Amino acid sequence: MIDVHVHLHPPRLFAAIRRWFAERSPWELYHPTEPAAVAATLRAAGVERFVFCSYAHKPGMARELNAWLAATSRELGGYGLPLATVHLDDPDPLADLQAAFAAGCIGLKIHEDVQQLALDDPRFDPIYDEIAARAGFVLAHVGPVPWKHDTNDGPGRVTSVLARHPNLRVVVAHFGVPDSARYVAALPAFPNLFLDTTMAFAHGSPMFAGAGRELVEAGAGNIVLGTDYPNMPYAYDADRLGLEALGLAAPTLRAICSENARRLAPALAEKARRA
Ligand SMILES: [Zn+2]
Repeated sequence: MIDVHVHLHPPRLFAAIRRWFAERSPWELYHPTEPAAVAATLRAAGVERFVFCSYAHKPGMARELNAWLAATSRELGGYGLPLATVHLDDPDPLADLQAAFAAGCIGLKIHEDVQQLALDDPRFDPIYDEIAARAGFVLAHVGPVPWKHDTNDGPGRVTSVLARHPNLRVVVAHFGVPDSARYVAALPAFPNLFLDTTMAFAHGSPMFAGAGRELVEAGAGNIVLGTDYPNMPYAYDADRLGLEALGLAAPTLRAICSENARRLAPALAEKARRA
């Protein structure tokens, strides 16, 4: 398996995030947060490689965060590969991204809700061009799910970005909830659009998509496994078990759990060195 959506944050930031969830959400988060412990869980679950990210929720922190993410990846022997973060109100987010790629990041995480940014903000255009030129990808948390489940035209923003940047690969997290069907319908026109499974297939998840077998089979070539580990209130393998419970064809499950991720990012096609 390849998991494209894991969270690692510097200890103080992670403690603040956990406090936020404890105070403001009904989620009970109990998984470990230290990078080595997270990596050990993933190895034990049969994950051959994972992608991890953090996010700059305000200006002035992206550079330091990216340096920490790259250093953490090196400490893990490259088993986990980092996505950079940028903040559009920083003086030179493009230079921040270039520095992050030079340090080993393989793409960019954007969280519209936490960062209070829109994916189709034109200030992202030079950043998207840079990511496409480097064969990286964007992992995007689109809109305010799980705190609000009404559509906010996420697919409109995502497809406008893809129309302007046809070589850019974009992964929409959480299977695009609440607009999963609209994203799957857009796949034939946008081959570089991917959806991850994060928190959308685990039974009892606050972002359960309720997607049936047909919808998943229809998007099979562009769906990648993601989990949000360690920030989810259930066992690590719950999303995969939820997928398996749909009775998907074996090649579909294989594509979702590993093969599509290798197509998404060349770095994921290489074998990881042992940590
Ligand atoms: Zn996440």
